Amino acid sequence: MSPLLEVDGITVAYGAVVAVREVSFTVEAGQTLAVLGANGAGKTTTLQAVSRLLGLRAGSIRVDGTDVTRAAAEDVARLGVAHVPAGRGIFPSLTVAENLRMGLYGAGTDRTPQGEQALEWALHPFPILRERWSQPAGTMSGGQQQMLAIARALAQRPRLLLLDEMSMGLAPAVVEDLFRVVADLRAQGIAVVLVEQFVTQALAVADTAIVLEQGRVVAAGSPDELRGDDMAAAYLGGRADAAPLEVPPAPPHVTEGVVVSLGPREARRVRRLADRRGVDVGTLLGGAARRLLDEDDA
Ligand code: ATP
Repeated sequence: MSPLLEVDGITVAYGAVVAVREVSFTVEAGQTLAVLGANGAGKTTTLQAVSRLLGLRAGSIRVDGTDVTRAAAEDVARLGVAHVPAGRGIFPSLTVAENLRMGLYGAGTDRTPQGEQALEWALHPFPILRERWSQPAGTMSGGQQQMLAIARALAQRPRLLLLDEMSMGLAPAVVEDLFRVVADLRAQGIAVVLVEQFVTQALAVADTAIVLEQGRVVAAGSPDELRGDDMAAAYLGGRADAAPLEVPPAPPHVTEGVVVSLGPREARRVRRLADRRGVDVGTLLGGAARRLLDEDDA
């Protein structure tokens, strides 16, 4: 039997920037694969290539034995692949109900008994969403928005769920709840590809994992094998038990009474820069502000 997902030597580029190089992995039906790696390693790009939101420069992708290398995103969805993108991709001004209907609409089951059943099942792990039914999605907490994004994907009754950074910016208790949902999905036989910065939790629910570095797979295996692998240990070692790398995309406080608001991409770049310089974001931005003040004084 062929694996549910077979990614074979894919290379993906944004113009001249090659983000993913000759990456291969497989996911068996009902299994969970964790895709780990630092910021910019190519995790999001890999998931987008799988759901055909990005084209390939080389390599091939098969879903349940069907070659989808050149298929449209809808065809991949029809084969049972649902994608929860980083940043959740929900419509903030639409209500919870409307967002969920969009998911059904995408699956072609809106207003069918099949769709209603799927919705019922998708909402089961997230009872809070029923309480928020008529509320605009953008007014809910980040955790609830993530639940909505996952429920919307589940309403498509996927065989394979792609979860991109579901924990990003969420409180540890919420993250724990979400990981419990992932474990439950696995128990129900749904395969999951989990892109995560929460390494410990990801490895705890995964059957297999790969570590990406600069677009390449540098380690692959079972969680136990990875913990014993030198290449992976170099990456996992510093992070396995550390706090998540990705801190909430909330505006960093620079000094008392001053809040700087950055877009998600800028916030990530600032965080990476702070990481590289070994300081926290506040210190980095504080330094920049003081330089500006010095300039102004001069
Ligand atoms: P992150 O956690 O920061 O999202 P990631 O591992 O998911 O990291 P990708 O987002 O896949 O990494 O990015 C891989 C590389 O591709 C990075 O060098 C990134 O700067 C680059 N990249 C991503 N999106 C684009 C884009 N739209 N245009 C150009 N380069 C891009």
